[in-house]
Amino acid sequence: MVEKKKTTKKKVMKIVAPKGVHQGGARTSSRPPAQKVSANADKVGKTAGCKDRLCPEHGDRKLKMRGRTFEGIVIKKLPGRVTIQFERMLKVPKYERYEKRKTKIHARLPDCMNDDVAEGDLIQIAETRPISKMIHFVVSKVVRRKTE
Ligand SMILES: [Zn+2]
Repeated sequence: MVEKKKTTKKKVMKIVAPKGVHQGGARTSSRPPAQKVSANADKVGKTAGCKDRLCPEHGDRKLKMRGRTFEGIVIKKLPGRVTIQFERMLKVPKYERYEKRKTKIHARLPDCMNDDVAEGDLIQIAETRPISKMIHFVVSKVVRRKTE
């Protein structure tokens, strides 16, 4: 059982690597704490307060981010969830012109990022496994705060 767990963890770390999101094993005292201090050093400080089991960074059921990423404006914020919207251009061959289409995506908001994200912010979301009927994305970072 223990061995099985270890192998899965290794796999996760390997895939998640490019973002630098992992911060060492959550509850494994056998290995020394990872010394990865990057640009998001302020986030590391909040690690202790995060009780979200599905948090991609410090949950014990670590969400694996894979697949596509999108950037969009937060148009709605609910407990543990946000809705983002972004515009894309669609070509209309008949008129040889482009039309604007809007896309809305629901994404999971980890507990530790709850205070960082507000309506109007530009955020980035990354694809994960389906968490519920509508949610298969998770908030990965805040790109730009609402300017006002
Ligand atoms: Zn967290």
